[in-house]
Amino acid sequence: MSPPRRRLLSWYRRHARPLPWRRDRDPYRVWLAEAMLQQTTVAAVLPRYERFLRRFPDLRALARAPESAVLKEWAGLGYYARARNLAAAARMIAARPGGDWPRDIDSWLALPGIGRYTAAAVLSITWDLPHAVLDANVARVLCRWHGIRRDPRRPAVQKLLWSLAQSLLDPRHPGDWNQAMMELGETVCTSQKPICPACPLRASCSACKNNLQNRLPLLSPKRAAQNLRWTCLWIERDGQVLLWKRGPDELLLKGHWGLPEAGRVRARPGAVIKTVRHAITRYRILLTIRNAQSLGPQPPQAKWVARPRVKRLLVSSLWLKALPGPR
Ligand code: SF4
Repeated sequence: MSPPRRRLLSWYRRHARPLPWRRDRDPYRVWLAEAMLQQTTVAAVLPRYERFLRRFPDLRALARAPESAVLKEWAGLGYYARARNLAAAARMIAARPGGDWPRDIDSWLALPGIGRYTAAAVLSITWDLPHAVLDANVARVLCRWHGIRRDPRRPAVQKLLWSLAQSLLDPRHPGDWNQAMMELGETVCTSQKPICPACPLRASCSACKNNLQNRLPLLSPKRAAQNLRWTCLWIERDGQVLLWKRGPDELLLKGHWGLPEAGRVRARPGAVIKTVRHAITRYRILLTIRNAQSLGPQPPQAKWVARPRVKRLLVSSLWLKALPGPR
C-alpha cells in the first residue's frame, strides 16, 4: 500500500467521527444516511436520522409505508423529492425476487433518485465493492492533493476527477477509503482555512507544497440568477388530469412529469388558479397555473392520469407548490 494511502486510512480509523450510520454496514442505514446528507449538513441530519429509523426501522417498513407518512417524517429536511424517491426505491427493492438488495451499480442507478455518488457510496460502504465516490468534499481534496487548477464543476473536470478518484481507491478497503476522503474534506481539507498541519496527505499534497491550499479548487464565479416565467395548464376531465412528460432537452426538470406548458397541448386557457415562485439551481421561476379545457386529441407526451395519482407522478416540489386544492 502506498504511504499516502496507508496514512489516510490510518488517520480515518483514528479520527472518524462516531456517526450513527457508521455503527454497522447495514445497507438500509447507509442508504438512508446518504439520502439525508444530500444538500443537508451532518448537524441537521443527526436528530432526524434516528427519528426516521424509529418510525421506519427497515426496508420493509419503509416499502409498506404510504408516501404521505414518509413525507411527514421528512418534513423540515427539505428537498422532498429525496423522500419520494427513497420511498419509491424501497418499494422497488422490496419487490425484487427474494427481496435481495441489489449489489451491482447498474441496478442501483436504475432506482429513482440514485445517482453515481449514492450508488458508489452504498456499494462500497456496505459491501466493500470497488466504486469510488466523488462529491464536493472529495473533489476539493483531489484538486488540492493533485494540484488540479481547473474548476471541478465543469463536466470535463468532473470526468477527470471521477477517473482519478477511481484510480486512487484502495481496492482492499473501498468503503473506508471513500469515507476517509469524505471525512478529510469535511473536517480537515475544508473549503475555508484547511488545516494542513493535521492532514495525513500533507507530504504528498501539491497545493500545500505550492502554498495554493487557499486558492484551490479554482471555482469560476457563479453565474447570475436567471428569471423564468412559465404558464402551465390545469386540465381536468372526468376525474383525470392531463400531465406532460418533459423531454431530455428541457432546460429544467428533464424527464420529469409535470403540468403541460401553455402552447404544448391543445387547450383553451381559462382563469388563473394560482401563481407560485420557486427556485431551481440558479433559475427563479414565476409559475402561473391556469385552468384550461382540453381541445381534441393531445400529443404523445401528454397523458391523462387519475386525479389521486397525480401527486405521485409530480415529484418536483415546484409542481407540488402548484397543485390546486389540498395536496
Ligand atoms: S495538505 Fe492541506 S490542502 Fe493538502 S489535502 Fe491536506 S488539508 Fe488539503
